[in-house]
Amino acid sequence: MILPIRLYGDPVLRRGAEEASGDSASIRQLIDDMIETMRGAGGIGLAAPQVGRTERVFVAELAAELRPAEAREQAPEALVFVNPEIIEESDEESEFEEGCLSIPDVVEPVRRPERIRMTYLDRHFRARELEAGGLAARVIQHEMDHLEGVFFVDRISAFRRRLLRRKLREVASGKVEASYALYAGPK
Ligand SMILES: [Zn+2]
Repeated sequence: MILPIRLYGDPVLRRGAEEASGDSASIRQLIDDMIETMRGAGGIGLAAPQVGRTERVFVAELAAELRPAEAREQAPEALVFVNPEIIEESDEESEFEEGCLSIPDVVEPVRRPERIRMTYLDRHFRARELEAGGLAARVIQHEMDHLEGVFFVDRISAFRRRLLRRKLREVASGKVEASYALYAGPK
């Protein structure tokens, strides 16, 4: 089932997610719905708070060649990360333009560590560890931020953010259009 996506300004996106309590019908359904929602919206990553949930879960869609070697066997399924933790990040950083399904029409360069190492449970709730670089590391870090209530626009310069202030206010008040379903209910 496609779930409506929460917009910047929705309190659930600032709350931070909580440890998922393991394999349950509710988590399996959430994972399936999140993959369907991400694909329907043409996104390459989606975190549970973006659909109004508070479990520490995110999904990502990466072309096989961009996938970390440890995750390549999961193709062609979307990658599923339950209770992820970043355990190591490189000193080396890179800058790349990011966007977010919760902030339509905004793209900004964000500086992040180039490589990370992480632990997580996959969609079968098996404990895994992976190392990622490049786009995979970027998507993972962007989605991990959502689980902490952080947006990519929190990581740009104060100057750049000031230029976006009006746009972000419009998004927060729902004055925005997207090609996918946006959440319009009580927050
Ligand atoms: Zn996002």
